[in-house]
Amino acid sequence: MVSYKELGLVNTRDMFAKAIRGGYAIPAFNFNNMEQLQAIIKASADTKSPVILQVSKGARNYANPTLLRYMAQGAVEYAKELGWEHPQIVLHLDHGDSFELCKDCVDLGFSSVMIDGSALPYEENIALSKKVADYAHQYDVTVEAELGVLAGVEDEVQAEESHYTRPEEVIDFSKRTGCDSLAISIGTSHGAYKFKPEQCTRDPQTGRLVPPPLAFDVLDAIMEQLPGFPIVLHGSSSVPQEYVDMINQYGGKLPDAVGIPEDQLRKASKSAVCKINIDSDSRLAFTAAVRKVFAEKPGEFDPRKYCGPARDLMTELYKHKIINVLGSDNKAL
Ligand SMILES: [Zn+2]
Repeated sequence: MVSYKELGLVNTRDMFAKAIRGGYAIPAFNFNNMEQLQAIIKASADTKSPVILQVSKGARNYANPTLLRYMAQGAVEYAKELGWEHPQIVLHLDHGDSFELCKDCVDLGFSSVMIDGSALPYEENIALSKKVADYAHQYDVTVEAELGVLAGVEDEVQAEESHYTRPEEVIDFSKRTGCDSLAISIGTSHGAYKFKPEQCTRDPQTGRLVPPPLAFDVLDAIMEQLPGFPIVLHGSSSVPQEYVDMINQYGGKLPDAVGIPEDQLRKASKSAVCKINIDSDSRLAFTAAVRKVFAEKPGEFDPRKYCGPARDLMTELYKHKIINVLGSDNKAL
């Protein structure tokens, strides 16, 4: 048993309470490798933003759970080395799909876990989420549960169609599960293809797809039921067209990739939405930078020469999200 406290991590409880009061949201950035982790920590330390390092089941297997624990510990030490005196870093399991996986993460130093029972019938979702919350709370680990279904694909998680969260269920669900935060479905979606072209309109000037707006009326109704309760948005990458264009320019093929416009995320950040998940945007930045090096310097074979520029571009992306979209800069001094 390793407590996250020994690793220098924090859970999400105070972080979320402050974010709701302050009208900003905490970035939850997924990572799979060293360069992504370096970029997340550098961007958070430079902007003094609290941050959630998020790991999916697939990413955990990819990295190796033991190595991951030391990477998280290393991230805290690296943040201090960068001059961030009191780093506020959470290590969070994204989309835990079983009690055993969540328990394993609690036991190996995670400070927060998500149990995603959203595909289960309502009562089964409650029973599973409660079981995880009861276990995690013994160790002061915070728990995110999900109600409603997001469309899209993310690692092992996938759904054809979204089903908005039903506001009339949220009080019962949060009370009976004891969860600390609630992931909801209001029209965000996993992956770099969040909407089918037929769900969008097309900008006549640029020819680009314009996605349908998020269901802020559903969010408002949920907040009315659960005043001050931490709400989480998954699938909230914006799929920056500059990266999509770079990828396509340098030999990639991502036609009609489309995300959530940043002005909608900015609006959500000011509400009880206090955690916003961003994964695809970092993948796109990484891929764009690597493709550019490969296209321009076909003789390059030192990974540092193409992963380095990828790291720089991701750092820039993370800082942009922190400062211009979520407003979490200077909140962890
Ligand atoms: Zn998700």
